[in-house]
Amino acid sequence: MTQEFNEIVGCKTKCNLIRTEFKFSDKHRRWVHVLVGQQYTELCNSGRSIILKSYRCRISLLRIYFFAILMSRVLIVGAGLTGSVCACLLRREMPNKVSIVVWDKARGAGGRMSTSRSPSDPNCTADLGAQYITATPYYAKTHRSFYDELLAHGILKPLVAPVEGMLMKEEGLRNFVTPRGSSSIVKHYLRESGAEVCFDHHITHIYQKGASWEVQRKGGEAEHFDAVVLTMPTPQLLQLQGDVPSLIEGGPRQKLESVSYSSRYALGLFYSAGVRIDVPWAAKYIADNPCVRFISVDDKKRNVESSTSGPSLVVHTSVAFGAEHLEAAEKDVGCLVLAELKKVLPGLPEPVSVKVQKWRYSQVRAELNGGTPSGTGSRVAQGGAVGATLPLPRTLHRSFARRSLTTA
Ligand SMILES: Cc1cc2nc3c(=O)[nH]c(=O)nc-3n(C[C@H](O)[C@H](O)[C@H](O)COP(=O)(O)OP(=O)(O)OC[C@H]3O[C@@H](n4cnc5c(N)ncnc54)[C@H](O)[C@@H]3O)c2cc1C
Repeated sequence: MTQEFNEIVGCKTKCNLIRTEFKFSDKHRRWVHVLVGQQYTELCNSGRSIILKSYRCRISLLRIYFFAILMSRVLIVGAGLTGSVCACLLRREMPNKVSIVVWDKARGAGGRMSTSRSPSDPNCTADLGAQYITATPYYAKTHRSFYDELLAHGILKPLVAPVEGMLMKEEGLRNFVTPRGSSSIVKHYLRESGAEVCFDHHITHIYQKGASWEVQRKGGEAEHFDAVVLTMPTPQLLQLQGDVPSLIEGGPRQKLESVSYSSRYALGLFYSAGVRIDVPWAAKYIADNPCVRFISVDDKKRNVESSTSGPSLVVHTSVAFGAEHLEAAEKDVGCLVLAELKKVLPGLPEPVSVKVQKWRYSQVRAELNGGTPSGTGSRVAQGGAVGATLPLPRTLHRSFARRSLTTA
């Protein structure tokens, strides 16, 4: 396939592979990999040509557009678990065939697997979303390669610290924690994907333009992609404008609108080094408080207690409290939760800082087919902070990969 371009924007070389970015119009750029036969030591870009300086031939001039193998440019919206695993699988199954870009509106990776740092100590961290990963016997088997990989990299470790009140709904469940915080899972997959990851990129409109998609974001230029994968919670997907409303008109919209999420707040309390939180558990589900549902001494839960960094505490509110105070000011909610926390843990020391996080879309309450999330492997603990399964189904990934190829 050949296509006229206006300019070569940039190029890099590695062995006999040249990675070049072409500009077809102001808004349309593509990365292309071109294989050449020799080892090149130097290359420079002069408008519509790339000049190669090699060991064997002193200077050769390559007019790329006759040889260009155009790569599919795929945008993945969302740098959470789904987006990062999707990017990684795409890269592994289609090396050198896709150029992967990930955009997220947040300032960092993780989504609902985010890890917050104490403003006064970057080593004092707290997981404000997902708390632990649970492998049911079914998923431990079908997703074995994912678990093996994360365990081999030290990203997952078995949960050994005591968690009070955890209901094991199935025989043979295995729980894992993330010593470097839950966002380390997402960061691992993003790293593996080699994707170009951009934060502060809030997608607002998507338009279909022939075989490609024009994606608009807040405060930035629109860009074109061959395929777009949306991984945000369903209500945020339904907020997208442009051609999205007409593309999902009718049945698909109705189905998507039937998906609902619970809302809850999370608080991260950060302490100075040397402070002790004197409780006999690492995490606990609270059954008799209208506000506080779950507490975790995060460094203890992750088995990474240290004398040089302070401990951190995570508090999750009940869903009922989350719904009642959804539109309240976060500062006021923080004060209410801290007051209730003192009733649950009267001797708790004063933290050096507190972070309040509202999870408007916390966990799925009603699934796409109208069911409640349950069963085959996803849920563990009693109605509190409970689990998603790790990766995307491979079949879904495969069919996506095929589609994106055919649109290229
Ligand atoms: C309080 C809480 C406790 C939990 N406990 C557990 C647990 O113990 N174990 C477990 O396994 N799971 C748990 N979960 C669930 C788990 O965190 C999620 O299932 C998982 O993180 C979802 O990942 P995701 O990538 O699908 O979605 P998300 O993590 O929500 O990622 C979506 C991303 O899309 C971005 N985005 C949204 N809209 C746009 C837009 N318009 N433009 C650009 N970017 C956008 C968001 O910023 C976000 O980063 C918990 C969740 C919460 C909130």
